[in-house]
Amino acid sequence: MRLKHKPWAKDKLNDFPQYVIANPEDCNGKWNEVFGNDHPLYIEVGTGKGRFITEMAKANPHINFLGIEVYESVIVHALDKLIESEIPNCKLLSVNANDLRNFFNKGEVSRVYLNFSDPWPKTRHAKRRLTYKTYLSIYEDILPDMGEIHFKTDNQGLFEYSLISMSHYGMLLNFISLDLHNSDYEGNIMTEYEEKFSNKGSRIYRVEAQFPSKK
Ligand code: SAM
Repeated sequence: MRLKHKPWAKDKLNDFPQYVIANPEDCNGKWNEVFGNDHPLYIEVGTGKGRFITEMAKANPHINFLGIEVYESVIVHALDKLIESEIPNCKLLSVNANDLRNFFNKGEVSRVYLNFSDPWPKTRHAKRRLTYKTYLSIYEDILPDMGEIHFKTDNQGLFEYSLISMSHYGMLLNFISLDLHNSDYEGNIMTEYEEKFSNKGSRIYRVEAQFPSKK
């Protein structure tokens, strides 16, 4: 993604504490209090401009959603969507996925979504892929036993890599689509990247992967 420097983004994020959590380490173990209910919490890692997470929140009012994005200049667009639509069950974190263990107790997150994650095609950058084993281990630590990751991408190489990485980790691959938009899967909510690449004719791949039971 080409990033435009937006020096005002930080101030804007700070101006909306009802939507942007400034000190997520203080929320560890208390996300139900932050949202004011005991609904399940779904997170999207690498949320970008936030179309998926905000539309998911509108469609599922009894689930809490958190969009997680490392760049303030990008997540500020997700904030605009929350301000415009006044979505009470969606909030944002401008943090790096590496740090997620600091923000959530085991089992506090009920599902992890990864959408159109950066492919990092060079082998020497494999550790940066959000489906690399160290990231899978982070997700496992914040999900409940047998928690799930739902992953979509247009990138065949990243998809194949991710299936292998998840399998090596011992995860079960419960659902795989090699052409989501031409399948009978219902209720797909598109991301910004998904719309862009499917409009260019790219196929969309999707997997639902589940961690093994540790009991
Ligand atoms: N999910 C969105 C979509 O489908 O339109 C955005 C896809 S974009 C290719 C990937 C996003 O993941 C970027 O905005 C990037 O900054 C974010 N990202 C990559 N690595 C991350 C990390 N370690 N922690 C948080 N966000 C990350």
